Amino acid sequence: MSTLEHINCPICDQDDAELLFDKDSLPVVICKQCRLRYVNPRVNRQTLETAYTETYYPPDKVERIHTGSMEWLQMTERLTELEKHHPGKGRLLDVGCGIGTFLHLASEQGWQSHGIDPSKSGSAFAQEKYKLNVQCGYIFDADFPSAYFDTITLYHVLEHISELNPFLSELRRVLKPKTGTLVIEVPNGESLQSRRQKADWPYVHPHDHLYYFSAHSLPKLLQKHGFRDITMGKPKRVSTTTDIRFMLRQAATAMLVKVHLGTVIRVYAS
Ligand SMILES: [Zn+2]
Repeated sequence: MSTLEHINCPICDQDDAELLFDKDSLPVVICKQCRLRYVNPRVNRQTLETAYTETYYPPDKVERIHTGSMEWLQMTERLTELEKHHPGKGRLLDVGCGIGTFLHLASEQGWQSHGIDPSKSGSAFAQEKYKLNVQCGYIFDADFPSAYFDTITLYHVLEHISELNPFLSELRRVLKPKTGTLVIEVPNGESLQSRRQKADWPYVHPHDHLYYFSAHSLPKLLQKHGFRDITMGKPKRVSTTTDIRFMLRQAATAMLVKVHLGTVIRVYAS
């Protein structure tokens, strides 16, 4: 069994939380002050980092993701919305870029793409297959210059980050002030599905999903680190088929997203 660590609420720094439920022998709590849902106590950073470096993308997973058409549709949807939001392109950093599909698409559209991912096999795939400028490691190792990036993207990454506050400070430092755009997409801890399913919601994975953000708590965290102009994106449901059932489901998703009850939340900030 790995060593557990106890934390204060990463948003308001209080230790005033109540239990929501246990899952996989770990408690998910809610902060009584700011309503952030987080795992406490949780698996310690060293254990998590070893897992991300060594085992997060085994070769069969790399192949499955690379060839899966859902991956390509999803990444295209993300890039399309980003380009509406930040039409100027420029220098892009994808943190937790995985095997590099999103960065590859962005490069083809004229972005100067940079990526970083702790997974050895994920980053090696991105470097070899797409010839991308991807580093294996964590953002603190990269030592990027200040005010360097026009856009920084994190898709399903922030919920994995142990050192949340130093991490966001570092993003603030390397993003261009005022003109830069930060994009964060995470599972929505206050989605309709999560409210209905509670511990059974598939995104509840307390060993490595350390926080369950909402349209309320995530902007609060970003403001704390000096991000401004925070707006909600509208992530769309994608599918390989376009029959009537999918169209109906897509319309239902769009309605939920509008009222912040969608399965994921996407936030833009500058
Ligand atoms: Zn709090």
